[in-house]
Amino acid sequence: MVNDLAYGTRDKRGNWRPNAPIALPPVSAGALKKLPGFVLGYLFGWNTLYMAIALAYWHWALPETQFVASLEWGWTLRILALNIAGAALFFGAFELRLYMQRAQERRFKYNGTFPAEKPSDVFWFRSQAWDNALRSLFLTVPIGTAIMVVVMWLMASGAVPTSDNPIWVIALVLFAPILHEGYFFFVHRAIHWEPIYKRVHSVHHNSINPSPWSSLSMHPVESTLYYGALVLQLALFSNPFVVLWLFVLATFGAIVGHLGFDRLELGQQRSVTSHAYAHYLHHKYFEVNYCDDGVLPWDQWFGTWHDGTKEADERMKARFRAKREAKARRTGGSAK
Ligand SMILES: [Zn+2]
Ligand SMILES: [Zn+2]
Repeated sequence: MVNDLAYGTRDKRGNWRPNAPIALPPVSAGALKKLPGFVLGYLFGWNTLYMAIALAYWHWALPETQFVASLEWGWTLRILALNIAGAALFFGAFELRLYMQRAQERRFKYNGTFPAEKPSDVFWFRSQAWDNALRSLFLTVPIGTAIMVVVMWLMASGAVPTSDNPIWVIALVLFAPILHEGYFFFVHRAIHWEPIYKRVHSVHHNSINPSPWSSLSMHPVESTLYYGALVLQLALFSNPFVVLWLFVLATFGAIVGHLGFDRLELGQQRSVTSHAYAHYLHHKYFEVNYCDDGVLPWDQWFGTWHDGTKEADERMKARFRAKREAKARRTGGSAK
């Protein structure tokens, strides 16, 4: 059995936190010697799994481009059914192993409780799992599919210019994760603006203790904004494959921050890092880590980075205090 206390500590309530701070990409540390390792991680981490999914879709699931050139119910519903089934299998597999079978029990689990142990009225059927799964599969995935289909159709029908130049397409493929995370950072910041947060983004944040089903559990307005990076491709002389790749990154890639476990055990002795902690802290503290520990340190640049350490807790509390005081000054109330 892997010993999680070799990697972190558990408090009295059973919440586990890693000892090491979350590492930022070398662009922020200015450490050129870390760059090769980072590039390898970029190409052969989670992105490898997503690329395998995108290639499988491209070769076996998507119809020939000539069919995509005309918008018809037949192939669009087929893609929708495939996407719902694919998401159900993918997120369901992680949910089954970690949250139903509890294969790792509470080892490496940030939050000491499982969502099923705390039913709540904020969720449909008082169940986080059912609420999140239904929202993910029957709201977000159909909205994302509709956006992907329309963008691909505009490309295939010749309504917008595209490119088949392999160098350009490879460049767009390599750039897509950076585009996705940068786009997501700014959209995510915007939907934390209080009036939008209350009506829209709070649905996603109902899951303070997220599980894989929480990944795409959103208000439909957020789902629509979330897939906006696909629409940007219309202005980039892009290619339908890049659109599919972005769809896969946005859909399946959302799992990373919502695993709830810091490391995934592979057998009795081995485990791999999940990269889930940055976004877990966002669900816990709300106004930190609008982006994950991805390629560019957006949160560090904008003063909202939390690396999981006690020092970062203090910095965050000071920032929240200053914000409350500024608000109290504006409204003439007390800074509670
Ligand atoms: Zn989230
Ligand atoms: Zn948020």
